[in-house]
Amino acid sequence: AAMEEELRAGLREDGGSKIEMIVSYVDDLPNGYCATSAARLAAMEEEMRAGLREEGGSKIKMIVSYVDNLPNGSEEGLFYALDLGGTNFRVLRVQLAGKEKRVVKLESTEVSIPHHLMSGNAEELFGFIASALAKFIADEGPNKVLGGKQRELGFTFSFPVRQTSIASGTLIKWTKEFAVDDAVGEDVVAELQKAMEKQGVDMRVSALINDTVGTLAAGSYNDEDVVIGVILGTGSNAAYVEKADAIPKLKGELPKSGNMVINTEWGNFFSSRLPTTEYDQALDEESVNPREQIFEKLISGLYLGDIVRRVLLKIATQCSIFGDVDQTKLRSPFVLRTPDVSAMHHDETPDLSIVAEKLAENLKIADTTFEARKMVVEICDIVTSRSARLAAAGIVGIIRKMGRGTAGDKRRTVIAIDGGLFEHYVEFRQCLESTLVELLGEEASQSVSVKLTKDGSGLGAALIAAAHSQYAN
Ligand code: BGC
Ligand code: MG
Repeated sequence: AAMEEELRAGLREDGGSKIEMIVSYVDDLPNGYCATSAARLAAMEEEMRAGLREEGGSKIKMIVSYVDNLPNGSEEGLFYALDLGGTNFRVLRVQLAGKEKRVVKLESTEVSIPHHLMSGNAEELFGFIASALAKFIADEGPNKVLGGKQRELGFTFSFPVRQTSIASGTLIKWTKEFAVDDAVGEDVVAELQKAMEKQGVDMRVSALINDTVGTLAAGSYNDEDVVIGVILGTGSNAAYVEKADAIPKLKGELPKSGNMVINTEWGNFFSSRLPTTEYDQALDEESVNPREQIFEKLISGLYLGDIVRRVLLKIATQCSIFGDVDQTKLRSPFVLRTPDVSAMHHDETPDLSIVAEKLAENLKIADTTFEARKMVVEICDIVTSRSARLAAAGIVGIIRKMGRGTAGDKRRTVIAIDGGLFEHYVEFRQCLESTLVELLGEEASQSVSVKLTKDGSGLGAALIAAAHSQYAN
């Protein structure tokens, strides 16, 4: 009773008690923490079904990729690939030599896309891409390598596209940092083809694919139990092998294989069951695509750093734990990037000196106390755990939709994953893997595994181009 009386006295007025009862000004605890309840998983599965039922049936688009067969190893010949989706884009040349020898040669170059082209016009963007391609093949000589055949290309274009065939599709909208308005609604293959002609590049685009589809293809080329491809990088998305007769919106003759790869575009998932915080809402409002790609904004590498920055800014305005800071940097969007968050989260120095360094360098928060740095690490952990848990929930949603991963299911279910967030952020990856076990249960999770499939999307595009070659028999 004495203790309770002191607690009350402390709340009554400052100095009212030996127990200070300090008002922290933290009036809201993060509410996105438990992001993986059964209800939320069920919401995701229901949205996926609705998206398969009819075009526009759900926020999750469930795009029919026209890839009805994954590579089986028999692919042969020389193929090119273009991989456009983030800040860099890659040009590849891949020599495939059939079942025994497989990929005998893979050469590639990576070019970073000048920032102004991401929000310019279509002609400039595709012109830039085509010119990089022209440079890449310039020293081969005319059709020398191909014995008179036309060169063929797989185009990985990692944005939501309404596919109209294996080698055509119209851009639904841009995501991530891209906003090339006049390309929306256009056939991106036609745009590329036009730009290639201007550069004098004679090439046929044999396949247009999403990076998740490419990752799935490359994954299954090396391990036939790969049935899901996931990107956890700048953006986030997943593709998987669906049964053709489980896709009501697929009209006409069903593919002979009985299968169809679906590009879910899960990044656009949103549901009242997906809790967001004031930081998420502000980030969304100020983004180039407000009210779009909410799931992606809670998960992917483009955004995690900025969520952490927003939390730190609020703390800096509401209390003095960081001392007297100049907030100019703290108020600048995207100055704290996900690799910085990863480095702070992973800081193993006894005095958290990496945290100190990153805070000073990126946010002009200098002279922090050890307590403050420990708090920053905890914030990184909260934001990243939420992301990893949501990503795991998405994967489990797909596994369930496929009717796999139950106790007693003897099939292996392998998920090919690419993207910097998964590849480089150790704590993210560990949390994703342990959440999969938690959600599937110890026993069922034995047959499920994830596999880093680095740069799979480019190879995947070349493999799918090979399968759809005009010279294929
Ligand atoms: C795009 C997807 C893509 C993902 C990963 C998202 O923003 O909508 O098409 O697969 O990023 O690159
Ligand atoms: Mg990529």
